[in-house]
Amino acid sequence: MGVESASGVSTRPARGNNDPMTDSISLPDHQWPTLEPGWVWLCGAGPGDPGLLTLHALNALRQADAIVYDALVDERILDWAPEAEKIYAGKRGGKPSAKQRDISLRLVELAQAGRRVLRLKGGDPFVFGRGGEEAQTLVQHGVRLRIIPGISAGIGGLAYAGIPVTHRDVNQSVTFVTGHDQSGATPSSLDWAAISRGSQVIVIYMGMKHAGAIAGALLAAGRDPAEPVAVVAGATTPAQQVLETRLDRMAADIADSRLEPPAIICIGRAALMRQVLDWQDQLAGAAPRDLDPLRRGRPAEQG
Ligand code: SAH
Repeated sequence: MGVESASGVSTRPARGNNDPMTDSISLPDHQWPTLEPGWVWLCGAGPGDPGLLTLHALNALRQADAIVYDALVDERILDWAPEAEKIYAGKRGGKPSAKQRDISLRLVELAQAGRRVLRLKGGDPFVFGRGGEEAQTLVQHGVRLRIIPGISAGIGGLAYAGIPVTHRDVNQSVTFVTGHDQSGATPSSLDWAAISRGSQVIVIYMGMKHAGAIAGALLAAGRDPAEPVAVVAGATTPAQQVLETRLDRMAADIADSRLEPPAIICIGRAALMRQVLDWQDQLAGAAPRDLDPLRRGRPAEQG
């Protein structure tokens, strides 16, 4: 165990350095923090591909003795903590929130029992993941915590599909929205007309179930029916699938495609960039479909 300090920072190497399994993924030299008994580290695991973990997440995996993880965390990541107890805390989208309280209180219990607790959540813990609530419960119970951000699916997942979430020729802002609220309905608090007017690119989490209602609201607000849409399912995982469609056909195409959640919906001309930047297709040997999908008519580096 490392030297204790208020910040949980230690100059000692993390545990696991002599473990044959973790040796192969040893951390570079750095003053890595120590996960002390009784602490909870609330950590983002990224959207799927284990390579998208942060080094802080890896440091956490090497020290935790209890890992509470979500449905969206790729189980290959858990193999990097062979000795920790793994506790599944998956929830189904849209179901009542009663279980969230149980999860938060379980974290408190584990911490109070002196465990080194890693709470591992998909993507970034503070993006549509209720990490803020979990963290608040911990603080309210006097549990010490560290927050480790992760790559959110709405950014990293789109990048894996060849879609830059901002692009100088497309958008100066981007709106991240959730497709359903706590009751599972389309969020009534969202002003779709304002979102439609204010954001050239709209990135929707948990939007599959209500794709029809969302498209309807955006079309009613004056959005172009032919606007490009990309739906990225299982982003960054071996099962990644991308549907390219347009706003007025999005819901029907999603239904026909039988794409399964988790999926991110990206509405806006940024989705066109996939035609030149689908780097995974290019890795597999395909040529770019269109070198200038935004029809700039000049090289990308020219202003
Ligand atoms: N905290 C997470 C989001 C949790 S909400 C993050 O920052 O990414 C769950 C939603 O995230 C899913 O319904 C889906 O819209 C999106 N999502 C998470 N992982 C995904 C993946 N690998 N591919 C596509 N969408 C994903």
